[in-house]
Amino acid sequence: MSDSILSVLNLNKTYANGVSALKDISLEIKKSEFIVIIGQSGSGKTTLLKCLNRLVEPNSGGIFFKQKNISSISKSELRIVRSQLAMIFQQFNLIPRYSVLKNVLMGRLSKMSTWQSLLNLFLIQDKKAAINFLDLVGLADKFNRRADQLSGGQQQRVAIARALMQRPEIILADEPVASLDPQMSQTIMDYLQKINTDFGTTIICNLHSIELAKRYATRIIAIKKGQIIYQGIPSELDTELIERIYEI
Ligand code: ADP
Ligand code: MG
Repeated sequence: MSDSILSVLNLNKTYANGVSALKDISLEIKKSEFIVIIGQSGSGKTTLLKCLNRLVEPNSGGIFFKQKNISSISKSELRIVRSQLAMIFQQFNLIPRYSVLKNVLMGRLSKMSTWQSLLNLFLIQDKKAAINFLDLVGLADKFNRRADQLSGGQQQRVAIARALMQRPEIILADEPVASLDPQMSQTIMDYLQKINTDFGTTIICNLHSIELAKRYATRIIAIKKGQIIYQGIPSELDTELIERIYEI
């Protein structure tokens, strides 16, 4: 299908310790979808997200980004693909002693030559873009603060601005609000939704909260013990299904 941005075919992942984390996963994601993946802790959500940009190497199966199989591409090709799939993590993963601005500029690293990045030679247009993205998440006035002086919610907003610096086609978010209070969780999800609707960026987000999944997803995928057991629009996800997804 031409509007498919990412598809996965018969993906399997067994870790070295023998744990079979993903079993024959196949799915198709279209451009500009807001996918939320739900499932119990240990069901394979993080493994699946990290297989999509090959931070975790699957044992078998195909991963197609814009119809191109990225399962066996060269390191340099993978670097380009990875820059188009930005990641956001539960623990924000900022560099604590760097300024907010410098952390956002780090999102540019994958597009710079080695010598430029070694010397931290960021272009003036990159700095302008970084300030613009900080403005988008309401943090332009904090550009000069050290990252470790910000609250958790502010740090996650910096991480979103850093992801946007990659001009990604897809944002992979692994439980981005799991460390935040309910109000800040909603703020972060609102920013992801705004990016999804304003820029058309495809979002694939692992979430703990069913309530947030139903509120923000255009499609929900549930996994259980490494297998997809449900896919559908939020309104179809009823109590019976939720019980089935979360029963041990
Ligand atoms: P979730 O994100 O849904 O909590 P994970 O993808 O982290 O699930 O984990 C799926 C399964 O794989 C779990 O049984 C977990 O213990 C196991 N697992 C995850 N990462 C590793 C690893 N690096 N080595 C071995 N087993 C792992
Ligand atoms: Mg996880």
